[in-house]
Amino acid sequence: MDTILSIKNLDKKYGRIHAVKNLSFDIEKGNVYGILGPNGSGKSTTLGIILNVVNKTAGEFSWFGGTMSTHNALKRVGAIIERPNFYPYMTAVQNLELICKIKGVPYTNIEEKLKTVNLYERRNSKFKTYSLGMKQRLAIASALLNNPEILILDEPTNGLDPQGIHEIRQIIKEIAKNGTTILLASHLLDEVEKVCSHVVVIRNGLKLYSGRVENMVASNGIIEVKTDGDQDLLVKTLKNYYDIATVNVEDDLIVARLENETTASEINKYLFEKGIIVSHLVMRKPSLEEQFLNLTNN
Ligand code: ADP
Ligand code: MG
Repeated sequence: MDTILSIKNLDKKYGRIHAVKNLSFDIEKGNVYGILGPNGSGKSTTLGIILNVVNKTAGEFSWFGGTMSTHNALKRVGAIIERPNFYPYMTAVQNLELICKIKGVPYTNIEEKLKTVNLYERRNSKFKTYSLGMKQRLAIASALLNNPEILILDEPTNGLDPQGIHEIRQIIKEIAKNGTTILLASHLLDEVEKVCSHVVVIRNGLKLYSGRVENMVASNGIIEVKTDGDQDLLVKTLKNYYDIATVNVEDDLIVARLENETTASEINKYLFEKGIIVSHLVMRKPSLEEQFLNLTNN
């Protein structure tokens, strides 16, 4: 596999704030990665470091197998880490031509990139007439002008309306389908779930998980139990069961996360032996949201 970026033991302190803690992960060609974490967890700092706009405190990162300087490597990277400034009275095409000049890229790329972000029809409109979603799409087009191998986006749908969010996500998926590797930072589980194949979950600068989105937690499942009898006793008894990790009460429903693999009938038998009759007992897989909350609440 081709490694595009390798991050090892990266650390960042802003004075007393420890923003990134011993973070390591690799980005392989062709995947779509999400850095997922609540606000303030160190996502933007991490992106800033790998793009050479924030100084690291310790650790290493290397682009494209460490075969070239970061300066040269970044010529093969497209990134939007803050809202880019386009000229309001210039059209989309004129703005992109200016960026081509700066980057030393031929104008002939412009048409294709505007089509990629569905702005070709509006190419001759002034930037100031664009909606927020269109502005963000133009930013993506500008980041693609040099045909980067990887596109890096920080919270790409922040501030957009649902339609705008949907369009951006579709475009990201389309870009990925055409072979461009993607790394995006998001605090939205839903976004990462919809767009990404891989995820790095961080909280307070610390990595909690990295791997495929669908394997986010190697979970043994969840059981839901109800009783018409003594609910407190049921909760206490479940908590004593060695296969159960956590027990939550949601009105009359008790939801327990399993520590080990077990069966509904084993749990039923255990409860029955403790004198508890259940009126409802099902075992199910946790939703991605439950898995994420489990990761970030610990
Ligand atoms: P995220 O992008 O996940 O919201 P950030 O990387 O922006 O997180 O921030 C991580 C932590 O570092 C936060 O506590 C934030 O307040 C702090 N931080 C970020 N940038 C600076 C800075 N320039 N100076 C001081 N603290 C900062
Ligand atoms: Mg951020």
